[in-house]
Amino acid sequence: MSGFLDPLFRRSLRQLCFVLAICLPLFGAPAQAQSGYTQTRYPIVLVHGLFGFDSFLGVDYFYGIPSALRQDGARVFVAQVSAANSTEVRGEQLLSQIKNIMAITGASKVNLIGHSHGGPTIRYVAGVAPQLVASVTSVGGVNKGSRVADILRGIVPAGTLSETLVNNAAKAFVALINLGSGGTSLAQMPVAALNSLSTAGSLDFNRRFPQALPGDCGSGPELVNGVRYYSWAGTQPVTNVLDISDGALGIMSLVFGQANDGLVSACSSRLGKHLGDYRQNHLDEVNQVLGLRDWFSVDPVTLYRQQANRLKQANL
Ligand code: CA
Repeated sequence: MSGFLDPLFRRSLRQLCFVLAICLPLFGAPAQAQSGYTQTRYPIVLVHGLFGFDSFLGVDYFYGIPSALRQDGARVFVAQVSAANSTEVRGEQLLSQIKNIMAITGASKVNLIGHSHGGPTIRYVAGVAPQLVASVTSVGGVNKGSRVADILRGIVPAGTLSETLVNNAAKAFVALINLGSGGTSLAQMPVAALNSLSTAGSLDFNRRFPQALPGDCGSGPELVNGVRYYSWAGTQPVTNVLDISDGALGIMSLVFGQANDGLVSACSSRLGKHLGDYRQNHLDEVNQVLGLRDWFSVDPVTLYRQQANRLKQANL
């Protein structure tokens, strides 16, 4: 019996194997867990902005982004620096964390991606320790100050009672953030953060750390002291009516008089090779709040994946 069926069975099996080999890739055969698309040579370190954190009660600041990068091969670390402090204090904290990451991974450099105040923070590290940094990517970075910080600084002048009150209120807010994110040991100085994010404070910082800044609103040098510099930005303050943060960003956007993301002007965010402006506001840039963004525009998570691939292609 088996002798009668064998030739037919073997032929059917060959045909089946042939069909599966041709068709499975077309119809979504289980993909490899890691395609290698985001597999950079050096680890990626994500650095948060003002009032930021690594994760708050289990929710990523870079919402869904670390996992999306890891999924295709990247080694990703999320830094936690002071939620509110000067660029220099945050930069020193980051430098120390980078040295730990290098010790853990054995990597000789890292790729830094910073959002908002995270932009100047990673620029600080690339300025003082370029040998440890493969690339700097600024996303909605406050590289030339924020008009919102200038106005706030004008409302609460240095050395006044109102400054003390605002500082204490901001400290209380940060304490709440730290409670949920485990950052209680990090020093907080909201007024120092405000100074760093103002136009005057940024100009002072930029005199000391001018690397890759464009003179105008275009692109700056892409390669400085062996470090590659990139940026992208949002220019649409209101993008999703369901997002509770859009109202505030929409109101703040009115003070700029130029393209902005609700907190940072498009020109302030530029650094190194500018990769583009997108229909995103300041929180969309990190896929917040909870993934609520312009659903008809590019997914913010996709931009991070593309950047990881760009770094991979550059052997970084
Ligand atoms: Ca949003």
